[in-house]
Amino acid sequence: MPRPLTPELRWHAVTADEALAQLDSRADGLSDETATARYHEYGPNRLQQQAQRPWWKRLLAQLNNLLILILITAGIASLALGHGLDALAIVGVVTIIALIGFIQEGKAEQALESIRGMLSPQAEVLREGRRQTIPAEALVPGDIVLLESGDRVPADLRLLQANRLRTEEAALTGESVAVDKQTAPVDELTDLAERSSMAYASTIVAQGTALGLVVATGAGTEIGRISEMLRGVEKLKTPLMRQLDRAGRALAIFILVAAIVTALIGALIHDQPLNEMFLAAVGLAVAAIPEGLPAIVTIGLALGVQAMARRNAIIRRLPAVETLGSISTIFTDKTGTLTRNEMTAQAIWLPDGEIVVSGVGYAPEGHFSRLQDDDSEAEPVDPDTHPGLGHFLRVGLLCNDAELSQEIGRWKIHGDPTEAALVVAAAKAGLDPVALREAHDRHDAIPFESERRYMATLNEVDGQPTLMVKGAPDRLLEMCHRVRDPEGELELDRQLWEERIHSLSSRGLRVLALAEKPIHAVNELAEAHAEGGLLLLGLVGLLDPPREEAIHAVEQCLSAGIRPVMITGDHAMTALAIARQLGFTHTERALTGREIEAMSDAELQTCIVDVDVFARVAPEHKLRLVSAMQARGGICAMTGDGVNDGPALKRADIGVAMGIQGTEAAKEAAEMVLADDNFATIVAAVEEGRKVYDNIRKTITFLLPTNGAQGLSIMLAVLAGTQLPISPLQALWINMVVAVTLGLALAFENGEENLMRRRPRDPAAGLLDLFLLWRVVFVSILLLIAVFGTFSWLLEAEGDQAVARTGAVNVLVMGSAAYLINSRYLLRSNLSLQGLFGSRPVWLAIGLVLLLQLAWTYLPFMQVVFGSANLGWRHWLMMFACSTAVFLVVELEKRILRARFDARRAQRQRGDLPHLRPH
Ligand code: ATP
Repeated sequence: MPRPLTPELRWHAVTADEALAQLDSRADGLSDETATARYHEYGPNRLQQQAQRPWWKRLLAQLNNLLILILITAGIASLALGHGLDALAIVGVVTIIALIGFIQEGKAEQALESIRGMLSPQAEVLREGRRQTIPAEALVPGDIVLLESGDRVPADLRLLQANRLRTEEAALTGESVAVDKQTAPVDELTDLAERSSMAYASTIVAQGTALGLVVATGAGTEIGRISEMLRGVEKLKTPLMRQLDRAGRALAIFILVAAIVTALIGALIHDQPLNEMFLAAVGLAVAAIPEGLPAIVTIGLALGVQAMARRNAIIRRLPAVETLGSISTIFTDKTGTLTRNEMTAQAIWLPDGEIVVSGVGYAPEGHFSRLQDDDSEAEPVDPDTHPGLGHFLRVGLLCNDAELSQEIGRWKIHGDPTEAALVVAAAKAGLDPVALREAHDRHDAIPFESERRYMATLNEVDGQPTLMVKGAPDRLLEMCHRVRDPEGELELDRQLWEERIHSLSSRGLRVLALAEKPIHAVNELAEAHAEGGLLLLGLVGLLDPPREEAIHAVEQCLSAGIRPVMITGDHAMTALAIARQLGFTHTERALTGREIEAMSDAELQTCIVDVDVFARVAPEHKLRLVSAMQARGGICAMTGDGVNDGPALKRADIGVAMGIQGTEAAKEAAEMVLADDNFATIVAAVEEGRKVYDNIRKTITFLLPTNGAQGLSIMLAVLAGTQLPISPLQALWINMVVAVTLGLALAFENGEENLMRRRPRDPAAGLLDLFLLWRVVFVSILLLIAVFGTFSWLLEAEGDQAVARTGAVNVLVMGSAAYLINSRYLLRSNLSLQGLFGSRPVWLAIGLVLLLQLAWTYLPFMQVVFGSANLGWRHWLMMFACSTAVFLVVELEKRILRARFDARRAQRQRGDLPHLRPH
């Protein structure tokens, strides 16, 4: 047990320095050694996970299912009627089915749980005087944590610095309005909700930045004390599963009614004994009910979640697996998702012209040069002697929070890559970031926020406080009135500078402008100080190349009928240039946030289908874009990383958060998290989603005919007043054997070739369309013919009911096994090497089911329980021929259907049939 921290100590009421002293810490962080020692003493910074449901509750939950209840009732009734053996077998089979469901669901839950573990949060700390990113679990009391907007506060913190900090504390206090934070101590008796000098674990930073001292971790935090619960474990129910539950209930009632009516007709019209008719009714119910289906769907979805995780898409809510398959529009951020987010300064525009910066990556190696008008060799520029360049780079370094370091020979950056590019550029000119920042004290700062689009700092320059601003150039032009020139100050020529911005951004470069102004007697910066009267210093263009994989993924989207749409905070020209490099289709024009604001919802809905690039967009515009696209019938995925992206992520059909760049707030709002922040991963997840849905459809289409054939054969036998070809117990056996072997195989099926070449699935369409319903009925009848045929043939040839029934059971299972191969492709032909033998799970399942059937047929114990009897090799040959015939007839049906679908498609292409325009 870790030693509890002195709870008597009211951290909110002591000064920051006292708190530091109490925890034996310093403003530049603990040493690694102390941190390790404290970790051993206090343990990991983790809350107890919610207790798992006990195993017996999960097992009992398996029995809470109408179908199973019918079986249990049947078992009890059989016992009451003196059929002890039947009752025992029913109980045995029910137990096995429940156990299988239990084990599989346990596995699925485990899989989801372990994937959730991949989302463990990180924390930015100062240790050994350096900024480091560590797992939040490794935090110890005394650590110094850096916070910025969107972060989830990782432990209870006494604030040491707070810059416009507001936190959203609903998780702790239930209050949903963000509260202001500051560093001065508050009264000892202040309520938790009003302790403004503290930031508490699991609350979210809504705005601003801060530095805080960890005063409590794990179970010692306020949230840890209130409850030992983290986040509730996700329920394993999805719309598809609910739809199946409903369908299952309706089917059960239908089957029950059919069973009772059949039994009554048998008793009243054919004068059969009531006792026997009851058993027939039970048999019919048991035979026709697909008991294994729910577990199989759960497994299909869990497999999907795992496959997606392997491809870096982490699913937070299970329904997302289904929805992904029907996505028709992907709204995606540009920076870091479509591009690499590895920024390098390439060009700098100063009042006297453009300077080119050489070198790639983060290594501070490169040169500055000026291009000549006559295209002759570039002329080197020395930053030390050039009047404007050195100053420009210094301001870029001071109005900046990023750091550059060399770790094991590799240059690494910490902080925002946009800012890091400026640090690297300054280092190329020989400036030392640490020394420069120490020499120019920073008194205050307004952090960069996407909505504000600039960052400002107040630094000491030659004893004079100076305001330094960097930000989006169009925004800064509004705030500047003059330009700083080597000769002095000049009037700002807006048109000239706009042309320069255009020249940089149309090359696909992200542009920043830098500005400054001397400022008097201000200790605390307000936005009003920064937003007027600035002196423009120049522009810098940053290169952020597109990701190779994204280019391919865009191409894949287009062929899959999915529209990729770029949403970026960047300049329209930059966005368009990058969109063109990526292969977006509608790239003639980009719509900006301002234009979106000027439009009504109806106008936006009209133009949204023709624009692929939205630039200078703020988070609130994202919400309108999703809504507009949804109003046009689109099923949308939307990416986001910031705290303000929450509403758009929630509104989208699939909210996608960035795993690396994304804030905890965004991850919380999202259905899916990208472990690699990569656009291509979204497309991979869509592909997996389509595959999972396909496989579930295939599984259902495969499983239902087995039940249909059994149900129909019992019903027909009773109605015709002949012997039952399959006894109730035998039907149970078939259901169980088929569900645990053949039924599982299709969940492992690979995606079909055209998976990403067809249009997205219509989410309103039912699980089984007319085509699949037809297939179920058609194959049910085929199998029915095989069962009746074999039964009558054997009864006549051998004169033994047990042999005839054994044949009927085996032909049904073998016919199903043959149909399993057909079901790998719903419409495509399986008459090829790949089509016949391409799936190992299918053949494994077939091998297993044959072994089980041999055991069932020949083992004396089985013969006693299930009434099976020995068969000869001629019988097996006959049954093999029958199942091959089933396979071939289904292939023939596919062929006829393919021809019909092709003809219809051709007709539609000629315009003879109405054609739905893609939204
Ligand atoms: P995307 O939406 O494509 O991911 P983004 O979210 O990175 O883009 P923002 O971060 O909102 O876009 O940036 C918008 C503009 O603000 C940029 O074009 C740039 O000019 C400016 N900018 C970006 N980062 C900073 C920063 N750290 N300091 C100052 N200005 C910045």
